[in-house]
Amino acid sequence: MIAKIDLKNLSEIELESYFEKKGEPKFRAQQLIRWLYKEKVSSFHEMTNFSKSVREALEKEAYMSRFFLKQKKISQDGTLKFLFELEDEETIETVLMPYEDRNTLCISTQVGCRMGCTFCLTAKQGLKRQLKASEILNQVIEVEKLLKSGEVKLPSFSKKDKITNVVMMGMGEAFDNFDNVLQAIHFMTKDIALELAPKRVTVSTSGLVPKIKELGEKTKVNLAVSLNASHNKTRSEIMPVNKPYPIEKLIQETKKFSSQYKQRKVMLEYVMMKDVNDTENDALELVKLLKGSNLKVNLIPFNEHSELSFKQSSLDRLQQFQDILHRNKVFSFIRWSKGRDVSAACGQLRSDVIKQ
Ligand code: SF4
Repeated sequence: MIAKIDLKNLSEIELESYFEKKGEPKFRAQQLIRWLYKEKVSSFHEMTNFSKSVREALEKEAYMSRFFLKQKKISQDGTLKFLFELEDEETIETVLMPYEDRNTLCISTQVGCRMGCTFCLTAKQGLKRQLKASEILNQVIEVEKLLKSGEVKLPSFSKKDKITNVVMMGMGEAFDNFDNVLQAIHFMTKDIALELAPKRVTVSTSGLVPKIKELGEKTKVNLAVSLNASHNKTRSEIMPVNKPYPIEKLIQETKKFSSQYKQRKVMLEYVMMKDVNDTENDALELVKLLKGSNLKVNLIPFNEHSELSFKQSSLDRLQQFQDILHRNKVFSFIRWSKGRDVSAACGQLRSDVIKQ
């Protein structure tokens, strides 16, 4: 028996050729894209502008993958953490962060991660497998469906009733699964699909430098770089990716991206860890590194966890660090991770659930 195809794994060109081989016009692909991503239907019967024979053929040869929601946790600050089970019973986490003016969904791009950042719980699992394009997209689709059905409610302070922003900062290194990430971005930002403006989608990287240029050329989305240190010694210790791609190269490529695509947001993420990367000297090195650029820095207090020895920088240290940046005209924000009480903070996804 031939295995059925998951239609959400096919690119637009593949969908067109699927219909052409059946003697159907190419525009059927556009109709299908609308059903899959905009209408988010669960059965072929709902695709009312397809003939009975097309629907029957789809039923026989294809399917539309879904996720099973295994667990959801709600944080005191309104953050919702979802654990989804995939077809092979692997699980991934997705986090919905409601704000007054937006609802940001943080999605995973891999099961586990091979980048080995020492402050990250996901890294402890290693890479189990890449997520397919369908699995990246289904995180958005399933959460939208949960919101629409009322099964999941947003806190009253949120003025929006749907997902408005997507950040690829969950489990995994997005650039390590680049082709599937690109395909997912295509349908996320297509107007008859998930319809997110590209400026509301952000891809985060730990520093796979060559892919920064490609992201610039192949998409219109924003870039976030997980920096976490201001010189090579510390960065190589806590982020092994720094050995092949040292910090100067990473910053050079990030600056290029930022000056070439002025309308796109570029953020440097800097998780503040006590006595690791939070000294006066670290701040001054960061100033030197960013001189002459408009790059902005998000200072994120580390979220402590029993399995990690790193500690959060004190508030005084955090303030001093930010003062040095500001005195030297480097813009920065202090950003507390949302969902800290449900381990939804950066680098903590999935580990707690595995233990249960
Ligand atoms: S911080 Fe990100 S890139 Fe680094 S190991 Fe964790 S998930 Fe991977």
